[in-house]
Amino acid sequence: MDCLFCKIAAGEIPAQKLYEDDEIMAFLDIFPATAGHTLVMPKAHYADLPETPDGLLEKMIRAVRKLSPAILEGLGSQAFNLVVNNGKLAGQVVPHVHFHIMPRYPDDTIKVNIPQQPYPEGEIELVKQKILQALEK
Ligand code: 5GP
Ligand code: ZN
Repeated sequence: MDCLFCKIAAGEIPAQKLYEDDEIMAFLDIFPATAGHTLVMPKAHYADLPETPDGLLEKMIRAVRKLSPAILEGLGSQAFNLVVNNGKLAGQVVPHVHFHIMPRYPDDTIKVNIPQQPYPEGEIELVKQKILQALEK
């Protein structure tokens, strides 16, 4: 499999590992948004979040909960963003599912001010219907 993160999981490409068990690995991102930017992934290859089995997603989020206090304490951060870029259009570059833990600092350069606006009149009900219909399939 020609996948960068599979190669990291297999030890073929070196990484600064923070956590590892039989199924999960967490390591420092080499192009960090902030110091301590960490990636958490399953060792097995799944392209994106919906493809990943529930049990593995659970283990990924448990690893986030275990690691994040240490990342914050170790680096003097008070907060973090947990991000998943799911799919190319959302900015996913490496098609091997992973969570980003990004510790936050008072003067960091992360911009999380995503523009939001109210739905036009009546639109929210239509959107809800479309999603609920798809859920029933
Ligand atoms: P994505 O955009 O797919 O959600 O995130 C991929 C992440 O992998 C990026 O933040 C990028 O900086 C990181 N990355 C890319 N290549 C490497 C690498 O060889 N080693 C490590 N540790 N991180 C990488
Ligand atoms: Zn992979």
